[in-house]
Amino acid sequence: MKKLLLIPALLLAFNVIAQKAEPTKEEFAKKEELAKMKPEMTEFWDPEVAVVTPGQLPSDPPSDAIILFDGTQESFNANWTNSKGEPSGWTVADHCVTVTKGTGGIKSKMELMDFQLHIEWRTPAEVKGESQGRGNSGIFLQGRYELQVLDNYENRTYRNGQAGSIYKQYAPLVNACKKPGEWQVYDVIYTAPRFKEDGTVFSPARVTVLQNGVLVQNNISLFGHTEYIGIPKYAAHGAASLELQDHGNPVSYGNIWVRKL
Ligand code: MG
Repeated sequence: MKKLLLIPALLLAFNVIAQKAEPTKEEFAKKEELAKMKPEMTEFWDPEVAVVTPGQLPSDPPSDAIILFDGTQESFNANWTNSKGEPSGWTVADHCVTVTKGTGGIKSKMELMDFQLHIEWRTPAEVKGESQGRGNSGIFLQGRYELQVLDNYENRTYRNGQAGSIYKQYAPLVNACKKPGEWQVYDVIYTAPRFKEDGTVFSPARVTVLQNGVLVQNNISLFGHTEYIGIPKYAAHGAASLELQDHGNPVSYGNIWVRKL
């Protein structure tokens, strides 16, 4: 008997809830506000975005790029030194510069913070050695964080040490290596780490890398300096040079340009 009375009561309650209520004062006010909105409300015109003229090819420097190497001896001497700040013994010929074994790495005279980098490189056509011993060099971002240069065309090595890796921290997403002797390109977006006054990390270095147009590092956060042995750590620093490694193999570099960000 009780159950029978309950059903009509529930139906009545449902009907009340389901009935469309009249708009409230607040709802009317919201409608009025929306009616005032126009597309222009969210369009900003100033300051006008700076104009940069792109290069003819994607590999060509845009108008605001700083050219660190254009294939000439003059450009090399003007922008690079050995690690001691003296003229480097690397060899400039055929529109590129090649590691001369035993002369040590080179560094850019320009010190950089955040940047976009375009750098062309080539491992030797004559294949010698294996694993880390084949066409090894490296691009040290701010002189500390190595983006590996290596011939990994049908050449296995530890995954976080192959071309496109941030050495011993991040393996590349894919192996996008061309054949030895062919020119390859890294396009890098780099955000320098920031440090607190006490020298501890405020924000880590971040890197995005495309190898031959293929994404191999996607906005990764670095753990510290890239180390051959040991755990990566940070030591506070400011603007610093780009450095290229002499690992004893005759790796060549072609056009190098940066845009400060
Ligand atoms: Mg290396």
